[in-house]
Amino acid sequence: MGECNTMSIQVTRVSMPDLEEYIDEIKDLWDSHWITNMGAKHKQLEAELSSYLHAPYVTLFTNGHLALECAIAAFKLKGEVITTPFTFASTTHAIVQNGLEPVFCDINPHDYTIDTDQLESLITDKTSAIIPVHVYGNICNINEIERIAEQYNLKVIYDAAHAFGVTLDGVGVANFGDASIFSFHATKVFNTIEGGAVTFKNEALRKSLNELKNFGITGPESVESVGGNAKMNEFQAAMGICNLRHIDSEIAKRHAVFERYVERLSGIKGIRLGQIQPGVNSNYAYLPVIFDRYRLSRDEVFAKLKFQGIYARKYFYPLTNNMECYKDRFDVEKTPVAKEIADNVLTLPIYPDLELDQVDRICAIVLR
Ligand SMILES: *Cc1c(COP(=O)(O)O)cnc(C)c1O
Repeated sequence: MGECNTMSIQVTRVSMPDLEEYIDEIKDLWDSHWITNMGAKHKQLEAELSSYLHAPYVTLFTNGHLALECAIAAFKLKGEVITTPFTFASTTHAIVQNGLEPVFCDINPHDYTIDTDQLESLITDKTSAIIPVHVYGNICNINEIERIAEQYNLKVIYDAAHAFGVTLDGVGVANFGDASIFSFHATKVFNTIEGGAVTFKNEALRKSLNELKNFGITGPESVESVGGNAKMNEFQAAMGICNLRHIDSEIAKRHAVFERYVERLSGIKGIRLGQIQPGVNSNYAYLPVIFDRYRLSRDEVFAKLKFQGIYARKYFYPLTNNMECYKDRFDVEKTPVAKEIADNVLTLPIYPDLELDQVDRICAIVLR
């Protein structure tokens, strides 16, 4: 039996500019016939992002995953890299694809980022870097990570795929660590259809990053290093230029949706909502809810919502150290907090155009 308001709701919905705005933006590409290989749109977006993110240096990529793979490669790391399993498959895969050994540190139960109390105990003489994740846009314990990295001479590359535009005490997230990577995938707060970027502190890294994303080519007749192809094209960059014009109002709309969820779901026994950290200006990318001895399990809530056409996501489940491809290589029992959160978390739909009465409907189903 259908009710009139039962149209399906996905966990996210891509932000797109008006069609006319995009057409306007790509018109010059028909004049220049320059549609990839670091053209005018690419240069413009790189400059605009550098300013928006208050990033020291930025270089664009065709997606976030290759940005991360290339960032790791650019530092020429060896041996072991400490990371967390409560993340998207990409973070662990990028380490493994570089021939490095991921060593999993547990997360803390408050903001789901790397547990810096345990981090030091995992460092060996083979450790070369730490790759922490700003999960859901929550900022890692950057001061402690920096202290440890300095003491043991480790590189720090943040997976900031969730943290576009987030600031801590007014400082843009792109300023932490040696480098950070961002994802501009359609499902993220800011998109270039697919896309990504590496932000970095040391200018010298630009040469390696640019070679890694363009076959090591440095001139018409010179290939100085071994690299692949991970360039952002002009149509992607044009989409980014358009979307960046509207990013602040899109985040403000997310904020209103976020607040409505907090209003409806806070103070309910067995439901734990993500908190915005002190000093953090959030991008409201996700709405994680932990069902902690609630009368329904996470899977029951998930099924109830799905039955009504609402597609929440078990994000992140499974943990990366529990994925089939890494079977028998890692022990999930060594990251018990991550396991607990992965088993009980559900991210509810949140996107700028999600209507507040739809939020009410989603909450009513969760609470019914
Ligand atoms: C989305 C995401 C990535 C990968 O980005 P793509 O642009 O999809 O390649 C990496 N890490 C995390 C945590 C992500 O959420």
